[in-house]
Amino acid sequence: MKNNKNKKDFFEKQLKKETQCLHSGYKPANGEPMALPVYQSTTFCFDSTREIGDMFDLKAEGHMYSRISNPTVESFEKKLAEMEGGSAAVCTVSGQSAVFIALFNLLSCGDHFISGTKIYGGTTNLFAVTMKRMGIDCTFVDFDGGEEEIQKAFRPNTRAVFGETLSNPALAVLDIEKMAAIAHKNKVPLIVDNTFPTPVLCNPISYGADIVVHSTTKYLDGHAVQVGGAVIDSGRFDWESGGFDCFTSPDASYHGVVYTKTFGALAYAARLRACLVRDIGLCPPAFSAFLTDLGSQTLGIRMRAHSSNALAAAKFFERCGKIQEVIYPGLESNKYHSLAKKYLPKGQSGVLSVVFGGGREAGVKFMDSLRLAKNVVHVADVRTLVLHPASETHRQLDDRQLALAGISPGLVRISVGIEDIDDILADFEFALEKVD
Ligand code: PLP
Repeated sequence: MKNNKNKKDFFEKQLKKETQCLHSGYKPANGEPMALPVYQSTTFCFDSTREIGDMFDLKAEGHMYSRISNPTVESFEKKLAEMEGGSAAVCTVSGQSAVFIALFNLLSCGDHFISGTKIYGGTTNLFAVTMKRMGIDCTFVDFDGGEEEIQKAFRPNTRAVFGETLSNPALAVLDIEKMAAIAHKNKVPLIVDNTFPTPVLCNPISYGADIVVHSTTKYLDGHAVQVGGAVIDSGRFDWESGGFDCFTSPDASYHGVVYTKTFGALAYAARLRACLVRDIGLCPPAFSAFLTDLGSQTLGIRMRAHSSNALAAAKFFERCGKIQEVIYPGLESNKYHSLAKKYLPKGQSGVLSVVFGGGREAGVKFMDSLRLAKNVVHVADVRTLVLHPASETHRQLDDRQLALAGISPGLVRISVGIEDIDDILADFEFALEKVD
């Protein structure tokens, strides 16, 4: 018994990231399996109607149907909440759905929010096209600008600010403290997509962010086996500060529950699951959560390897004399280097971009000459991956439109894997020789 108490005390202190990757979330009790069990069941059995009724009234916790929650998924959610320093996490079937519900949980038709311009293209489309059709307006602002410029974008109906810690594909580093201060001055939460750094390299909540989202499809899984997403709430934003009736007034779909009164610091996450995950059907399957959790167990060691390999690759490209520009915040020459030192001191993750002076043709020649790196529409994997936005993800844009999106035709995005760095560089060197 004494040893159980010692164990409990040990796990209650703040463990280091590498340890959290392995031990947060699922904590097997005496005689239980060491590996996270897969609860492959759509539903769960109860002795009494009352117990199920209480769950429907949000009076009791528990799992009743896997479209809403599942024990395997819950274990992974607990790991993410612990690793990000949040009050709760909710997993979803993709990063896109996580970004969407993180915002839709607090925005309704007629509301407005502000997003950084340098974000993932799929998210830009979600904000500018799909959410606009729902009557939700987004203003895109360059977050590198001064406070006065950013302040001009706020309106009386602005309800949130959104940015990416390390943006895809521009690799801009978000000044989280600055953006949190601006958001809070306007009484709205800051939502940060922390996909590229992962909770191992940065915890936006510790710098003032209120809500964190992830595409777990990327490094958290890391092995290209499972699409998924997550929303983590800090539990710190004061929803009673005005403008967030959805949390502070009675919800008719749950007999008038008031989320802030019933759930306190869990109000945002409780509504996210009870309304959006339930209504849209976003809880990932148990086996998906099992696979992502399995991948995440080595995240600590992987992020260190990705970061050091990417820095070595960035330096190699700077030296090689064939590249017009190397974009990687770990490089001293990078305009975000000082922000990277502040927010990503343990490593700047594994993604970099190189711009070929020879434009589109040179980029394609380089890509097609690689032997080890995989040419795929994906990023943040254990294997080295490459993508040429001008001829793949952004191929519908002409050169003028590409310039507006900040992508030059000769840009190749490289997601540096954890192979031996000598083999990675040998592959790059071979392909560079083919480029004039
Ligand atoms: N956020 C970022 C930063 C991304 O890079 C992506 C996808 O590339 C997403 C969100 C969307 O995630 P998913 O593809 O898992 O839906």
